[in-house]
Amino acid sequence: MSKDNITDIAVIGGGASGFAAAIEAKTALPKARVVILEKLDRVGRKILATGNGRCNLSNINLSADHYHGSVKNVMHIIGATPSAKEFFGSIGVICTADTKGRIYPKSNSAATVLSALRLRAEELYISERCNFEATFIESTNDGFRIHSASGEKFPCRRVIVAAGGYAAPQFGTDGSVIRLLRSKGCHTTKICPAVAPLRVRPELLKGLKGVRAKGRVMAYSAGRLLKEEVGEIQFTDNALSGICVFNMAHLFSQYEGKLKLRLDLAADMDADQLEGYLRVIQYQRGKQTTEELLTGIFPRNLSSYITKRALGKPLTVLISELRDNDIRQVVQLIKCLEFDVTGTAPWKDAQVTSGGISGECVDERLQLRSEKGIFLCGEILDVDGDCGGYNLQWAWSSGILAGRSCADSLRGGLS
Ligand SMILES: Cc1cc2nc3c(=O)[nH]c(=O)nc-3n(C[C@H](O)[C@H](O)[C@H](O)COP(=O)(O)OP(=O)(O)OC[C@H]3O[C@@H](n4cnc5c(N)ncnc54)[C@H](O)[C@@H]3O)c2cc1C
Repeated sequence: MSKDNITDIAVIGGGASGFAAAIEAKTALPKARVVILEKLDRVGRKILATGNGRCNLSNINLSADHYHGSVKNVMHIIGATPSAKEFFGSIGVICTADTKGRIYPKSNSAATVLSALRLRAEELYISERCNFEATFIESTNDGFRIHSASGEKFPCRRVIVAAGGYAAPQFGTDGSVIRLLRSKGCHTTKICPAVAPLRVRPELLKGLKGVRAKGRVMAYSAGRLLKEEVGEIQFTDNALSGICVFNMAHLFSQYEGKLKLRLDLAADMDADQLEGYLRVIQYQRGKQTTEELLTGIFPRNLSSYITKRALGKPLTVLISELRDNDIRQVVQLIKCLEFDVTGTAPWKDAQVTSGGISGECVDERLQLRSEKGIFLCGEILDVDGDCGGYNLQWAWSSGILAGRSCADSLRGGLS
């Protein structure tokens, strides 16, 4: 390809989508000189942290319901690129799914995913340049010059921007490249942490820090049910957490100030069954204090919290002294424990970015509309998926499409 000193394809960002893009581009156009420019001293640091170190790299149940944002053709892009199992199978990583459909490497190790990507890149003679923080993309007659924070100017014919969003800045992603792209005519949608804990008033969580409980989480706004999920709910001193809460976080930007979470902490029992159970407990444990009322179904901290909040009485009152209305109030609170959402957790505790470069800024091949020769992929675009492998699947698929489109554009000149 290039006879001069210019790199054909520079990929900004050595993360999930950057590796997929570089590998696909080089496979499609073997003579192209492809370089990954990474800001940190090592590539793929976020990949290593995914899935608690196990890398939940995709999900069997891929559908549009699991994706949010202004990029409209997410499922089309996923369908037009190899599945994660095929892609990783082609680089020697066997994948398996758990009972919830979440796909992991058989090794259960994110490190094997990163090393397979790096080995494939090495086989293809794709270079890695670490400690290169892109700060500006300058247009030139034969392509671009990427400026770095240290003053270097890196010449290339095409650019794939795979620099992620704002979430988890400890892994190199602080949104600076999203800001950089504004100078290329891009606009962004509202940006907010997603796949993150949701904050509620701390005084409503007193005594619950560290408690985990199974239940149904429902997100409401103005009385309308927006989303519901069953799973483990975790309580911290100022937030609700757990996968089912994470999956509500993307709603915050849309319903800021008007979002409520309603918890049903006995999702497997209806109100009548629960009331019947408590009446049996009242009969059996009448001589004990109300502190023991719910210890058969909840951890002690949660049981005391519910009883205290529902009854507004000291826990020293005997269970036998509770009136019918008291029992009903306890049932009501267990089935409908409500919190106003006051915010999301900070970026360092978020896994994903809700919002990003608007889907209107790229064409169906993920090339920038405002400047040909620049392609975008991954979390930098306004796509966020639910927890469960959906975000990495988007990174692989959008990376593959951006890499393929970029290689095609070099074959035929700028379109
Ligand atoms: C703790 C954690 C766990 C997660 N677990 C899962 C999971 O199990 N399954 C799942 O589907 N998703 C998971 N995610 C989300 C998933 O990791 C991301 O959505 C995905 O990595 C995004 O890929 P990307 O290529 O767009 O960006 P990233 O993987 O974030 O890569 C971007 C790269 O660009 C580099 N970069 C940034 N700015 C510059 C610059 N100016 N110049 C050069 N390089 C730059 C960064 O250092 C980084 O290496 C998790 C996220 C976190 C934080």
